[in-house]
Amino acid sequence: MIFPWYEPELAQLASRLERQTLHHAPLILGPNGLGKSEFAEALCELILCHRPVVGHPCGECQSCQLIQAQTHPDKHHITTENLSIGVDSIRQGIDKLQGSAQLSQNKVLLLTDGQRMTTAAANALLKTLEEPTNNTYIIMTATSAHSLLPTVLSRCEKQVLALPEPQKIQNWLRDEYRIDMSLEEISAYRALPKLCLAAHSDDAVTYAMFIEALQSLNSPGSVLSMAQKWEAHVQDCLFWLQQWCRQAPSSKQYKGIYDLSVQLMREAQHPGVNKSMLLYKILNRVKEVLS
Ligand SMILES: [Zn+2]
Repeated sequence: MIFPWYEPELAQLASRLERQTLHHAPLILGPNGLGKSEFAEALCELILCHRPVVGHPCGECQSCQLIQAQTHPDKHHITTENLSIGVDSIRQGIDKLQGSAQLSQNKVLLLTDGQRMTTAAANALLKTLEEPTNNTYIIMTATSAHSLLPTVLSRCEKQVLALPEPQKIQNWLRDEYRIDMSLEEISAYRALPKLCLAAHSDDAVTYAMFIEALQSLNSPGSVLSMAQKWEAHVQDCLFWLQQWCRQAPSSKQYKGIYDLSVQLMREAQHPGVNKSMLLYKILNRVKEVLS
């Protein structure tokens, strides 16, 4: 199911599909946690459904049923748990597109996390993107346009999914999951609905836990122990500190912490960097402000 706030975007693509003007390679763009793969899945179902109902797959035809059973012969999916998608995966995916569709009139290759393609993999995909066989769609998702080769990018049609308004996420969490989340918390999860939801799983490390931990920084040795305890979540912590500074009264000290966290977020991306030291540095500043 796609998030309700993306219904208009899907409806627009549905109407183009109906008019046979849908681009053969839609590229769904947005950060992780936004719901890109759900959107791509819904578009795929729509393309394969035998009798879509006002922009939605019917859910009942043979095609829809096979998709639900994950055995649709004309739907192929390339994805990986690894850091990269290699050339072999792409070749296998392309091979499956050969020949005519078995069931629907269309065939779909779904490629999630396109930004993980190696250069060789992306080049292997190029020819198919350039000269697609009839009734073939390649739906790709990626975190950002610049994470893809320009040659790949220019052969796709970008569909950028916008961040939903925090208020919409708040309502959705309440209506669908009976979860109450403040707008401040939602912003701390970058207004990404899946991150907001994940924060409520049993083993989640949350913004609220982090903010609470800040309150005990004044006790001896706690800066170091907190830095060590949270180092695996360094990017979240630094981002949360920015959020925390935004909520604070405007002052030079908070501004200093904000700026430092922006700088440290960049440093934290370097491989081999000592993450607990980064946190130690900034948590000492936080301690000064709080004492
Ligand atoms: Zn259907």
